[in-house]
Order: sequence, then C-alpha cells, then structure tokens
Amino acid sequence: MEKVISGIRPTGNLHLGNYFGAVKSFVKMQDEYDCMFFIADWHSLTTHPTPENIRRSVRTILAEYLACGIDPEKAPIYVQSDVKEVLELYLYLNMNAYLGELERVTSFKDKARTQPDNVNAGLLTYPTLMAADVLAHKADKVPVGKDQEQNMEMMRLFARRFNRIYNVEFFREPQSYHFSDKAVKVPGLDGSGKMGKSEGNAIYLCDDEATIKKKVMRAVTDAGPTMLNQEKPEPIRNLFTMLEIVSSKDTYDYFNDQYNNMTVRYGDLKKQLAADINAFCAPIREKIMAYQADEDYLLRVAKQGAERASESAHKTLSEVRQIIGFRAL
Ligand code: ADP
Repeated sequence: MEKVISGIRPTGNLHLGNYFGAVKSFVKMQDEYDCMFFIADWHSLTTHPTPENIRRSVRTILAEYLACGIDPEKAPIYVQSDVKEVLELYLYLNMNAYLGELERVTSFKDKARTQPDNVNAGLLTYPTLMAADVLAHKADKVPVGKDQEQNMEMMRLFARRFNRIYNVEFFREPQSYHFSDKAVKVPGLDGSGKMGKSEGNAIYLCDDEATIKKKVMRAVTDAGPTMLNQEKPEPIRNLFTMLEIVSSKDTYDYFNDQYNNMTVRYGDLKKQLAADINAFCAPIREKIMAYQADEDYLLRVAKQGAERASESAHKTLSEVRQIIGFRAL
C-alpha cells in the first residue's frame, strides 16, 4: 500500500472550509493508503508561539481530527517534535541545501516581506524540514494545496541530490496528491470569496448552535430576484452552495425553485441553512468536547502515533547514517 504523510499546521480550530476542503479527504484516505498525520509543531516555531499556545493547539488538533473521523489505529497521528530522527535528517539535508535556492522559494519571499522583523533561519529552511518530515518515512504521496507545490519540488530535488551525492537509489521522489482538486470549495457568507480563518468569515466545527445561527443570519444577501430563473449573483450563489453542501437535495430544490419563481424569502432560507449546518456540526462538536475532556486518551493517541512514526523514521535514519559514513543507529 502506498505511504501517505500529511502535516497539519497548528493554526487554530477547524472550520467548514477545512473540513470539506481537506479533512474529509483525509478521513477517506486512511482507508485507501498507509496514512500518517503529524502536527507540525516544529514548523510553528517560525512564528514564535508561547508554550501555552503550543500545548493548547496540539490538544485542539488532536481532538478535532479524531472528532472528524481520523482513526488512530488506521492512521497514526503524531506530534512532529516527538520524532527526533526527523531533526537528524533535517541537519543532513541542510548540509546539501543551498542558500540561493532556499531564498528563491516563494513562500520564504512572501514571509520575508510580510514579517521583515523575523526572517529567521527556520523560515529559510522550512523546505528542508518539510522534506525531512516526508523522506524520514520514505512516503510516496503528500496531500498538499497548490501553495505547497514548490516545497514539494524542493523535496524531490533534495531526495535526488542525496541519491546522487552518495551514489545510491535510496530516497523515492514523493508525489503531490491534490485532493483539493476534487474537494468542494466552501464559500464565505460575507458576499464573496471562500471561507477562511484569515478572511474572518469562518464557521467553526466547534461553534455552538447560537453562534452558527448568528453567523448565518448575518450572511450577505440582496433585494431578491427581479426576473424569473435569473442567474444568481455571487452572495446568493454562495448561500446556495452552502445549502448544497450541508442540506438535503429536497431542501436545496425547494429554495432553488422559490428563487427561480421569485418567491424566495432569504430569512427562511438562512434559518434552514443555520439549522442544517448545526445538524451537521452538532455530532462533531460533541465529540470534540468529549475528546478535549479526555486528556489521557489524547496523550495515548499521541504516544502511540509517536511510537509508530519513530519506528519508521528510525529505520530510515539508521540507513541514512550508514550511507553518509556514520555508525548505524
Ligand atoms: P485558512 O485559510 O482558513 O487559514 P488553511 O490555509 O489552514 O485555512 O487551510 C488548510 C486546508 O483547508 C487547505 O489546504 C484547504 O484544502 C482547506 N480549505 C481551507 N479553506 C477552504 C475553503 N473555504 N474551501 C475548501 N477548502 C478549504
């Protein structure tokens, strides 16, 4: 079975966009591939989080991914900083990564521009750490968004370079798995664009019923259709896309017919949409709360994940050390 590894950035709670755009695919992938997920807490240090930030976000991610249906028996979840072999590989890869090529990486240039006071070496070597995360397990596939394509190319470059320098066929070149091509894009309800944390328009899986209702009732609409069967302007299309995602086909058709014959009442549509979003989120929300409250279980999941990941990384690193000329582990 092909090996898939995916990093999770510890950047706060999951929203509906994350769920339908990414996490739902992960849940499916765990049955089709030999999957491992890791919480990228080393990567997060580039922005200097506090210890409490780190601890809280690791707990949150674990609880939310488990609540969404990641089964740690099928797909171990581990905390990146629990698998020290990755750091060793990071060091080796850094010895053969060149300043010029690292400086040319677009995400580095973007970060250097947006946070000029904190252009640290960790940011520069983000691609080597990401390569170490994946190559340490000799994974075949990495689920990534389009923004990660350049980092994937760097990863393949580092793998090829290692093989060439030591004249071995050791690392495979991991391939990108663009699950987002197949996933739906969840729109924002503020008139245009997508749902996102940074867009400030996210409905979170852990939002309670009243919060969901408030967010949906605030959704941008217009004065209503002025012609039969007219094309929907973006804010209205977004509402209907949300209905398509969380409601039944009957509900969607009901409001769509009303729109087409110009009898739609947006207030009713929003009430139904809020109820359907809540019906979708409620069971996940309850599980999130239950997992959050069971710290022992979360620790056990992370520990088991770390054991499985360490086993795989240990084997790779033992061989890497011998190839380089060091003693095997
Ligand atoms: P945000 O933009 O809210 O910070 P991230 O950039 O952390 O979210 O997104 C993580 C993943 O979640 C992305 O790779 C993407 O696949 C998915 N995702 C985020 N927002 C959406 C959305 N509105 N629709 C579909 N997928 C999304």
